[in-house]
Amino acid sequence: MNMPMAFTDALPVLKKITAAGFDAYFVGGCVRDYLLDRDINDVDIATSATPLEVKDLFSHTVDVGIEHGTIMVLRNGKGFEVTTFRHESSYSDFRRPDEVQFVRHLEDDLKRRDFTINAMAMDSDYKLTDLFGGQHDLKKRLIRTVGKAEERFYEDALRMLRGARFASQLSFELEDSTLQAMKKCSSLLQHVAIERKRIEMDKLLTGINWLRGISYLSQTGISEQLPRFSVTDQQINRMKAINLDALTIQQRWAAIILLMEISNSLAFLKQWRHSAKRMQQVEQLIKLYWERTKSMWNPVMLYETGIQSAIEAEKLYAAICHVPDNEQLLLDMWDLLVIKNRSELQVNGNDLLQWSNRQGGPWVGELLTEIEQMIITGQLDNNSTEIKKWVNRWSQK
Ligand code: ATP
Ligand code: MG
Repeated sequence: MNMPMAFTDALPVLKKITAAGFDAYFVGGCVRDYLLDRDINDVDIATSATPLEVKDLFSHTVDVGIEHGTIMVLRNGKGFEVTTFRHESSYSDFRRPDEVQFVRHLEDDLKRRDFTINAMAMDSDYKLTDLFGGQHDLKKRLIRTVGKAEERFYEDALRMLRGARFASQLSFELEDSTLQAMKKCSSLLQHVAIERKRIEMDKLLTGINWLRGISYLSQTGISEQLPRFSVTDQQINRMKAINLDALTIQQRWAAIILLMEISNSLAFLKQWRHSAKRMQQVEQLIKLYWERTKSMWNPVMLYETGIQSAIEAEKLYAAICHVPDNEQLLLDMWDLLVIKNRSELQVNGNDLLQWSNRQGGPWVGELLTEIEQMIITGQLDNNSTEIKKWVNRWSQK
């Protein structure tokens, strides 16, 4: 059998655990993705051995989440997450189980998983355990909860958003009773931390069928429980014409802000608790998008933006306005730029101070910018003698 490397790499870990008399299986997303013939993200191993028993078996381990039963086993420079079978009891606040209980049977571990397609396991002979009809749902391309949907959403409301996320990533549909339960329970999502929501939202937005994901959010009322995410039917219709396939996660957040016509994008990004870096990237993309709607790229704009960011913004613009992107033109324009950044300038601020005999101040930066622009537009050579002459004329003005 020709198995994906993700499995063959992890197989010795599985075998070592079973050789010691415990059960061990591949579980969850990796089994689902294998059956769908999709690339496997990472392999999760579930075992009847307790975390301490797992640690005893391997010489190199890291306690990545020992309180939840997860130990990372290191082997040949790779890490494998091994999690003890667990059962989650009494959810009093619609979010996290109050207590994690380790159990010895695979069945109990699979029962607590969210969706049938995520609740399958495979042993070291690649024999499948499918107790809840996961294969059937994979064939029908359906997202269906394990057990009664409403109960499962009361236990952990995030599962509703995860459902929409998987619908987007796999281009599946929500099975009807799962969908109905979401409509009924959507308000429970208000209890879930924004950080957990954002992780799912990132995955939803990067999914192949992100529009289906967003439509589900809207249709179920989940979007009302997300920071400024209500979307009108008109906006959804507009989104239908938009192809985000080639876009990165930051471009997609920027696209969503533009398509949902969110006015204060920074406040929106803060509400979603994006990292400072992500906020800065998205903000810049939006700023460049608006500049691009006003004019085509020119050398000065490109110099100030940098080629990488310019191409990213161009691709965003092309996607939203559904026009072909001008990447090649940008690359050609970039090639022709006499200087690509300030360090290539033949003069610096100190030179300006010396030549002009003036006190330092904001004028130095402003003058450097003016010199850069003249060089880029071909009005001045990037040569210190020429620049000095120009600065002398300037100081006499
Ligand atoms: P991906 O490839 O995107 O990582 P995944 O299926 O591995 O997809 P994870 O979020 O990494 O998704 O979760 C791993 C597994 O843990 C899931 O397949 C599911 O069985 C289980 N799981 C994760 N979150 C929940 C939850 N909130 N409720 C129940 N089961 C969950
Ligand atoms: Mg995963």
